[in-house]
Amino acid sequence: MVNYFLRRTPSARQIAEHCALCGASSAADDHIHAGICTPCSADLGWIHHACVHCGLPLPQHGLCALCQIKPPPFMRCVSPLTYEAPISHLIGAFKYQNQLQYGRILSALLIEQLRGWDSLAADLIIPAPLHWRRRWARGFNQAEIIGDEISRALAIPLQARWLKRVRATPRQQDLNAEQRRKNLRGAFAIKQSLRNLHVALVDDVVTTGATAAEISQVLLAAGAASVQVWCLARTP
Ligand SMILES: [Zn+2]
Ligand SMILES: [Zn+2]
Repeated sequence: MVNYFLRRTPSARQIAEHCALCGASSAADDHIHAGICTPCSADLGWIHHACVHCGLPLPQHGLCALCQIKPPPFMRCVSPLTYEAPISHLIGAFKYQNQLQYGRILSALLIEQLRGWDSLAADLIIPAPLHWRRRWARGFNQAEIIGDEISRALAIPLQARWLKRVRATPRQQDLNAEQRRKNLRGAFAIKQSLRNLHVALVDDVVTTGATAAEISQVLLAAGAASVQVWCLARTP
């Protein structure tokens, strides 16, 4: 049986033949790696140095001022890129315009970074959940798509249904750090035991880390041995 839907969907190879950012084709001189051509890749906001704990981009490796006072409950945050143009546009198109191929391209950048880290072993991937109403409206959870890509690439099991967002919360964008914390209290729940499991929490963007911190506390309370955060981009 011919699957017409699949036939109309661009193949991974077709996507890889054009740069996702400038549209240059691989027929040009520029090498296209993970869906992005070499000049565009050079322009991205790669994070070279970050806080060893919360992943905040820093001029050099070390601890950021906040983590020196009150480190987050997750042990580290891995992110290849700072959240700025053009990555922010790609992530926006991925989430709000159904451009799922951008999610896969950006996931590939994160996976490459994860492969480069030695002690990243995680037993389980848990994507940051959306409230069911938002997931229903969007048709997918972007964190689940990223988590699924990582799961298949690194052979780490994924559980997308365990952690639930039990309370819809107003958008966090206009809130300060303290308000974000209050806004999120009691928003997440998990019934399964995570005893002795090292968990990787996957999300698209980490901004203040308030969501990641709140979820981490829920996962640790469920018995997780450790929680680390893997995301596509980190707000500077
Ligand atoms: Zn390009
Ligand atoms: Zn920090």
